[in-house]
Amino acid sequence: MIGVIADWADLEVVREFFELFKTPWEPCQKDQEYAVLLSAGNGPFYGNAKLVLYYAGRKTHYDDSNQIETGRQRHNTCILSYQGDRIPIYGDTLTFPDGGSSILRDEDSRECVAYVDRSKHRVLVRIGYDLFSEIRTLLAAGQPPVNAKLPALELHIAFLRNLITGCGVPLVEIPPVPAGHRFIVCLTHDIDHPSIRQHQWDHTTLGFVQRAVLGSLRNVLRGRMSARDMLKNWLAVLKLPFVQLGLAKDFWRDFDDRYLALEKGLGLRSTFFVIPFKNRPGRNVRRPSPHYRAARYGAQDIADTMQKLLAAGCEVGLHGIDAWLDVDAARQELAEIRRLTRLSELGVRMHWLCFDQQSPLTLEKAGAAYDSTVGYNETVGYRAGTTQAYKPLAAKRLLELPLHVMDTAMYYAAYLDLSPREGKALLGRMVDNAERLGGCLTINWHDRSLAPERLWDVSYRELLQDLKTRGAWFATAGQAVGWFQKRRSAIYETKAEATQTGCARVPAEYGDDLPGLQLRRHSAQGSEEFGTNGSAGYVDVPFDDSIDTSVPFPTRRQ
Ligand SMILES: [Zn+2]
Repeated sequence: MIGVIADWADLEVVREFFELFKTPWEPCQKDQEYAVLLSAGNGPFYGNAKLVLYYAGRKTHYDDSNQIETGRQRHNTCILSYQGDRIPIYGDTLTFPDGGSSILRDEDSRECVAYVDRSKHRVLVRIGYDLFSEIRTLLAAGQPPVNAKLPALELHIAFLRNLITGCGVPLVEIPPVPAGHRFIVCLTHDIDHPSIRQHQWDHTTLGFVQRAVLGSLRNVLRGRMSARDMLKNWLAVLKLPFVQLGLAKDFWRDFDDRYLALEKGLGLRSTFFVIPFKNRPGRNVRRPSPHYRAARYGAQDIADTMQKLLAAGCEVGLHGIDAWLDVDAARQELAEIRRLTRLSELGVRMHWLCFDQQSPLTLEKAGAAYDSTVGYNETVGYRAGTTQAYKPLAAKRLLELPLHVMDTAMYYAAYLDLSPREGKALLGRMVDNAERLGGCLTINWHDRSLAPERLWDVSYRELLQDLKTRGAWFATAGQAVGWFQKRRSAIYETKAEATQTGCARVPAEYGDDLPGLQLRRHSAQGSEEFGTNGSAGYVDVPFDDSIDTSVPFPTRRQ
């Protein structure tokens, strides 16, 4: 059990951090003896523990009264090196004169930013940044694209976990890993262009022609496309006038069959986000050419396709227009998809990923089941620094399933402009992270990405094969959020009366289609070996209802 000393103003952030860590904790009670005390914030230090973890990015009274020698305070973003990982810090950092027991260093200056002091009756770890202010930044503002590939929030958890076990204290947690699997994968498809015929000869069609004719040739010359695929694209351009006249097949219209053939063949189910109304660009879009945001179709136009996808076990959600900024608009947009699907629970992803810090509350008020918008248009990675579904600070119940990989960000010339080989390597690193950290890898492959002129089907097929071999649980977005809700509902409590051990319990009933949880028991390592993977010395025990933690919990003094 960790006793936590933090500012009351940070309580929501502290709660969310420990929902994501899912290890027993409580706000520090003055008369209680804890195995670990974690202090962060501006208030005074109090309490007793054999292990004290003291986080602050500035010199404090605690430093003075404990004769802690401090170095300089810095206000700029920096990256800390930790056992091969890079942890970005967005708030203040404090350095310490190097006493030889440094465990975190500034990547550039090599100055010590955290060290272990075992010289007194207790072990003290002084860490020169404010943990909860970092978590607040990640959950509220998110990371700039330059740090997208750093799963910062997960690294803060991994670092804390390793501090505790590395300092000789055993730990339990319910990791973000479903029983029987290594991690979760959500395959999602934003439906932006389900028919090229509906575009007539607008900017989308002209862009298609340009990329199919010249872009394909350029890609062949750069070794990024086969001559066969180039010919396929050229043929599609030649067919286009006939498609527009209704005399040839609309090659963007069969996206459902293309995805069903590929995914169902592997036994997978995916989630499709559908735009409710045609010709609406939406309000307050702060990107170039905002009028291009208007879709040429509305959900009504693909009502049969939605039914077909649902019948095949897929999920359908709202690809919202104004739902992110207006409760009434969100209600109308959700109502349109509900009317056509008869689904009561609908998740949301906003078109062009339009979002602000109040959007989770807006969507929650309108009755959305979850959101999956927080990601990047221009790059791949962890905007909120996490692989887990989390509760945004503005929301009361709505969970955010962050979006990590978007095909267009990887392959479009204006964004990362990756070759298929580079794309495969980047995806491999994202899957490595999911395997190592758990949580969910959320992928968006757009509706027309398997068709001319993109033809990104080979990359997608290879990705699915890789994910299958690595033991992922393939969930629809709603199922993944449901599993995270189940994990969040688990509580730690002290077992009956005299015993000092605790148990973890899931108080509510959850559907059979969700995998179970696991209790991970870390044994104490009792050394100064701090590794981020936390893989040394733990045992996972699956459970569904309740389980003994076998780790002492404090008994309350009456
Ligand atoms: Zn979209």
